[in-house]
Amino acid sequence: MAATDLRHSGRVEVTVVGAGIVGCAVAYELGRAGAAVTVLERSSPGSGVTAQSFAWIGGPREGDPPDASTPLRRQVLPGWRRWERDVPGVRVRWHGALTWGGPLRGEVIGAARVRALEPRLRDVPGRAVHLADHGSVDPVAVTRALLRASGARVHERTAVSSLPAADMVVLAAGVDTARLCAPLGIDLPVRPSPAVLMRFAAPPGLVRTLVDSPGLEVRQAADGTLLVPTAVGADAEQVRRRLVAAFGTEDVRLLSARVGVRPMPVDGLPLIGPVAPGVYVAVMHSAITLAPAAAGLIAAEIVHGAQAPELAALRPGRAPVV
Ligand SMILES: Cc1cc2nc3c(=O)[nH]c(=O)nc-3n(C[C@H](O)[C@H](O)[C@H](O)COP(=O)(O)OP(=O)(O)OC[C@H]3O[C@@H](n4cnc5c(N)ncnc54)[C@H](O)[C@@H]3O)c2cc1C
Repeated sequence: MAATDLRHSGRVEVTVVGAGIVGCAVAYELGRAGAAVTVLERSSPGSGVTAQSFAWIGGPREGDPPDASTPLRRQVLPGWRRWERDVPGVRVRWHGALTWGGPLRGEVIGAARVRALEPRLRDVPGRAVHLADHGSVDPVAVTRALLRASGARVHERTAVSSLPAADMVVLAAGVDTARLCAPLGIDLPVRPSPAVLMRFAAPPGLVRTLVDSPGLEVRQAADGTLLVPTAVGADAEQVRRRLVAAFGTEDVRLLSARVGVRPMPVDGLPLIGPVAPGVYVAVMHSAITLAPAAAGLIAAEIVHGAQAPELAALRPGRAPVV
């Protein structure tokens, strides 16, 4: 059954597989669009890679080379503002981001402004890009808030091995989505991409924005924990020393370093759309950023048959089956 065939009378029944940020975002938007939603989760909501996310949120920057996901990315900030307004428990910390060492795209500021924004920063760059409308979230808190607000029936500790019966099944199982597609004869072009989130205890107020500097990306969560995404194999003591040098305090202590396995489409772009009659996939990198923009369009497609032009170039069929 194609997405457009679901406009029969009565509520569309949709089963979502996976309760990470993507599955819960889709469940929330489907519920809002009037569907009867069931969520099946192998473990507990927000326990997949979503729990290890740096969760940086931002729209496309002025001057970014456009790609097939640009129309979707343009809806990132309005989408998050809408969720903040509508979903109890969704909070975005709009602290902005400072980035240097890369292309100077966006509002370029000098050392004095950088110092004002990050007073504890030692080695202040002469020029940096200030992304004032960027922010971050607690990805697990948001995931759970969306699920609560979705009105969905939720079955935790329920691992799906064959496709359940429903008008539509949405596969949002992160890195495991490809495995669920395999029995349908579909080799979804998405691969596991591990990365590490390190957490450090530090004095409150040490980092005020999100700092993206050569060799160090860091933000300070609402509870004071410093979050640093790294590649697998990065030495935690070296990262700690970098933080100490960058912010001039010895009072930084490693709490944990956990691997998260990101679902990475081979061309880096989201895979969103039907893959077989009654089966729809939603897999993407930077899914924290993209979740509200993507999920609203996905729900409109499934419930109302409204084909989203923003998703037209992101269909799973665009890449050759490998
Ligand atoms: C270090 C790091 C930094 C990152 N930084 C950012 C960032 O700054 N901004 C950003 O936007 N993104 C970032 N990401 C990426 C982001 O975290 C992911 O894109 C996002 O969390 C993917 O969400 P998901 O719902 O697809 O996957 P998941 O969170 O993994 O959810 C999938 C769910 O499906 C369940 N599941 C799997 N198989 C089954 C099954 N057979 N039956 C039932 N349930 C099943 C799993 O248990 C899991 O709960 C980062 C990731 C990492 C690791």
